[in-house]
Amino acid sequence: MFLACYQTVSFVVRCFFYEFRRQLEYKSKYNGNYLLIADRWFPSSKICSKCGDKKQDLSLNERIFKCVYCGHEIDRDLN
Ligand SMILES: [Zn+2]
Repeated sequence: MFLACYQTVSFVVRCFFYEFRRQLEYKSKYNGNYLLIADRWFPSSKICSKCGDKKQDLSLNERIFKCVYCGHEIDRDLN
């Protein structure tokens, strides 16, 4: 009983995310926006949100992101 319920819930969750992604791709294309599908290892914290330069080393205790290329400073969670 539990396994059947788990499989059903798992199927519904996968369908939800498939449809969510499909809608994101469709709406992005329709509105002319760029959509980046990033995997879990995409280094978004290391990439400057202003110029796109990638920082080689960023330790977890560095809370302020400072770009060496353009000088942009921002909280790493907002970067
Ligand atoms: Zn920068």
